[in-house]
Amino acid sequence: MKKLPNIEYSRHAVDFIDDQRIAQLLRSPQPEASRIRDIVAKSLDKQALDLEETAALLRADDPEAVASVFEAARELKRRVYGNRIVLFAPLYIGSQCVNDCQYCAFRSSNPAAVRRTLNLDEVGAQVKSLEDRGHKRLILVFGEHPDYSAEFIAEAVRAVYQVRSGHGEIRRVNINAAPLDLAGFRQVKAAGIGTYQIFQETYHHPTYAKMHPPKTRKGDFLYRLDGLDRAMEAGCDDVGIGALFGLYDWRHEVLGLVAHSLHLQERYGVGPHTISFPRLRPACGVRIDEQWQVDDHDFQRLIAILRLAVPYTGLICTARETPAIRRRVMEFGVSQIDAGSRIELGGYTEAGDSQIMEREQFSLGDIRPLDTVIRELLQDGYIPSFCTACYRLGRTGEHFMEFAIPGFIKRYCTPNALTTLLEYLLDYASPETRQAGERLLERELAEIPDGEPKQLLLERLRELRGGEQRDLYF
Ligand code: SAM
Ligand code: SF4
Repeated sequence: MKKLPNIEYSRHAVDFIDDQRIAQLLRSPQPEASRIRDIVAKSLDKQALDLEETAALLRADDPEAVASVFEAARELKRRVYGNRIVLFAPLYIGSQCVNDCQYCAFRSSNPAAVRRTLNLDEVGAQVKSLEDRGHKRLILVFGEHPDYSAEFIAEAVRAVYQVRSGHGEIRRVNINAAPLDLAGFRQVKAAGIGTYQIFQETYHHPTYAKMHPPKTRKGDFLYRLDGLDRAMEAGCDDVGIGALFGLYDWRHEVLGLVAHSLHLQERYGVGPHTISFPRLRPACGVRIDEQWQVDDHDFQRLIAILRLAVPYTGLICTARETPAIRRRVMEFGVSQIDAGSRIELGGYTEAGDSQIMEREQFSLGDIRPLDTVIRELLQDGYIPSFCTACYRLGRTGEHFMEFAIPGFIKRYCTPNALTTLLEYLLDYASPETRQAGERLLERELAEIPDGEPKQLLLERLRELRGGEQRDLYF
């Protein structure tokens, strides 16, 4: 893949996706049961898998092997991450777009799409509404357009952090937008962003070319693949990768994601913070060949395999999926979900979920309110968490630390999940959710052994209940 002239790539930009090698890995014979056992054991021993090992898990499709992969992923999730689920909400800032991605309602050739960009007052109103429901973590989403420069994105980020409503505040702003140049990444970093997410969409070159007309900005595979290298070089070391499942063979995309993780890990010493695996959803005027559609079973398999392949990376399942599927995949891999999401511009204060296709980038599968999602999590024994402590204390690479540092979760993650949960229960929860939350809090506290850390946590919880104190973290 050639670099184009007059385009800024990272210092050693390289196309590390080898379609032929991936195809060959996927064509190899079925692995023996003993090989699967060894690979699973390696992952449970907290080691990332290489491409060959991941491919073996992808090829192993007899029911016994598949069951062992699910079981191992469940065990890894339980052992390493415990029962916390981090919650966030998307905030769409602008639907203008110069690209023409075949799967997206915002594509430039879609005359039916409603084009709108929120001004800073409108951003403020959306954020207030999100804060009033209890959100603390947002991801801002943008089309790709000259109006959405790095300066514009940075300004939106600063505006979000400034909004305060009662006890409400946004403590972490992530970004999903087009790849920037080095100066651009520096600018958004300075505005205080958390994760910068860019999805490669497909790691299969011919499919990428089919989906993204070559004359568009996004048509340059290497520029996009290299986007997060530029982010790293500019000092944004908290990045998220993703693939849009349904464009090509899901097994190929899983290997692409693993190759991308390994590349970042090898080159910068830090892998991606999160991996996303959106499945293609119906969207205004979009007609995509259903040949590569991923069914529910394979979707669950791909998440379990990713859990094992990249054990120290957060996995995100968005509200594109239905409540039933989201509930299922949290068992064996997913650690972050969005809730109460609206993706039409202005959707948190205006129409709510109008389900009008022209206004949305795609349609959602889970439009339940945040309070309902939290209640279900609590009833299922999860701790909903709004924790932002690591990022604010400069403890970057928190997923890696959770994984690699013995006792990290007990010392930091669980207490912070519980304090942020209590904030939610006190300030925003419905009576039923509060009841379910208090019961879970009690159960979780009973499991913490007596000692100084528990005393400290109890003290924080008392302070929160006392009234005005908020945002107490470890
Ligand atoms: N314009 C930026 C970009 O393309 O990177 C921002 C991302 S876009 C607003 C967010 C993501 O939504 C895309 O990266 C793509 O993976 C996903 N997406 C687009 N169309 C979709 C569809 N029909 N169903 C599900 N996800 C879709
Ligand atoms: Fe634009 Fe992003 Fe949609 Fe592509 S996926 S058309 S770049 S908003």
